[in-house]
Amino acid sequence: ELISVANLGAALGIKAKEFIQQMGEMGFENITKDNILTGETAALIAQEYGFEAQVAMGEDEDLKPRPPPEDPSSLPLRPPVVTIMGHVDHGKTTLLDYLRKSSIVEQEHGGITQHIGAFSVNLSSGNPITFLDTPGHAAFLSMRQRGANVTDMVILVVAADDSVKPQTIEALKHARAAKVPMIVAINKVDKESANIDRVKSDLVAQGVEIEDYGGDVQVVCVSGKTGQGMEDLEENILLLAEMLDIRSETDGMAEGWVLESTIKPIGRVATVLVKRGTLRPGDAIVAGSVAARIRTLRNEAGQEIDEAPPGTAVEILGWKDPPAAGDQVLQAPSEDKAKRAAHYRQELKERHEAVALQTKQDQDKRDKAAAEEVERDMKEASEEGAAVEPKEAGTTVVNFIIKGDVHGSVEACCASVLAIGNNEVRPRVLLSGPGQITEWEVEHAAVSGSRIINFNNTIPGHIRRQAEDAGVKILDHNVIYHMAEDVRDTLSGYLAPTV
Ligand code: GDP
Repeated sequence: ELISVANLGAALGIKAKEFIQQMGEMGFENITKDNILTGETAALIAQEYGFEAQVAMGEDEDLKPRPPPEDPSSLPLRPPVVTIMGHVDHGKTTLLDYLRKSSIVEQEHGGITQHIGAFSVNLSSGNPITFLDTPGHAAFLSMRQRGANVTDMVILVVAADDSVKPQTIEALKHARAAKVPMIVAINKVDKESANIDRVKSDLVAQGVEIEDYGGDVQVVCVSGKTGQGMEDLEENILLLAEMLDIRSETDGMAEGWVLESTIKPIGRVATVLVKRGTLRPGDAIVAGSVAARIRTLRNEAGQEIDEAPPGTAVEILGWKDPPAAGDQVLQAPSEDKAKRAAHYRQELKERHEAVALQTKQDQDKRDKAAAEEVERDMKEASEEGAAVEPKEAGTTVVNFIIKGDVHGSVEACCASVLAIGNNEVRPRVLLSGPGQITEWEVEHAAVSGSRIINFNNTIPGHIRRQAEDAGVKILDHNVIYHMAEDVRDTLSGYLAPTV
């Protein structure tokens, strides 16, 4: 999906020379008729001429998660998904091992458990809990950055003899950012040097509202070594889960997340945490841009199972290509549909990479041209022995993409942005519309050197990062007056310095 400048000009019915000049006005510098544009760039330019971009592949080729349930309270309960976090050596592994030992699965099958990144424990009460056991929480983080909360709660482990340490504070930050409730497990209380009160006051100093101090964060004293307090911990988890009323559909197209992805002697395997629906052998699924037909499902004891309901983690066999940890898994109605979605996503990825490359090349070219210009100016200045005169140029145009919560606010934003400017510098709105900022828009912004105005809307974490990586500035506001002020400031940055 590449097109030369000459061909795009011809398609738009504009003479090459004129077209190149107009592209220059749009901010594309050093363009020749032989320059190759990506589909996105071409679409963006075509839009300037009033043409709607034609994307070759339809969005309907992709798979989307189901919309959230209308009334979750009528759905079946599912096991809570729990993540244990804390400073190194404070006992996370020991606690997980202790919990794993109480797993029914293990008791029935002689304890040949294998690490699959998660395991479920059936308590004596019969209620299962699923623990994520992902080293470094890498997948956990990447999923959170995509706006997904794979975990329903965090157990913060603090060693009674060591108290709050840097990684404890890190873990606190993660739990807060993920907005999931927390239970504090003060571990190693069997040790003589244990100082529970100090841990509590250190936690309070970190803003943790623990129960003893009138807050609602439960604190449980445990020992992974002796097992002291472990039943209390499990009970507390179930109590919290009950309060959270964690429910999911067991039917419909399943959804989940890849926790781990490895190669074992039996082939490529991925551990998937099922969040909605039920996965079964034979199901077609897509993870990122990889499609698979589930050959076998296995639990953490390595046993083949017939189904993986929501709130459980399973090892899935049947991948031709490895999915990536942190990718979302979606069930497809057919293997064909799964393959098409994977193909679509692969192409999308390649196109994104092409745009990123083009953007970088354009930027490099602009940087080089700018550097040369400065050098020339300095040379001229030194030759003339005079100060650099501000260049006599036409109006500088600054591009904006405007996104907002609703149609009305976007219109209001556009109107107030377009009211700003003078004959030296003026804004131009390249794209506008209601909804969250999309990846496409960040790319468009990068290609066209636009700023994005985000009005009264949340910005997904991955979009923030994408914008940062692409050097795209987002003006994030929820008061029109402040937004206009920001635009005014931005434009004044383009004014020639007054001498
Ligand atoms: P992790 O780095 O957080 O996973 O910590 P580990 O589970 O590896 O534990 C670090 C060390 O503390 C190990 O030597 C454990 O045996 C020890 N440990 C863990 N829990 C307890 C406990 O409750 N009491 C005592 N005395 N030692 C513990």
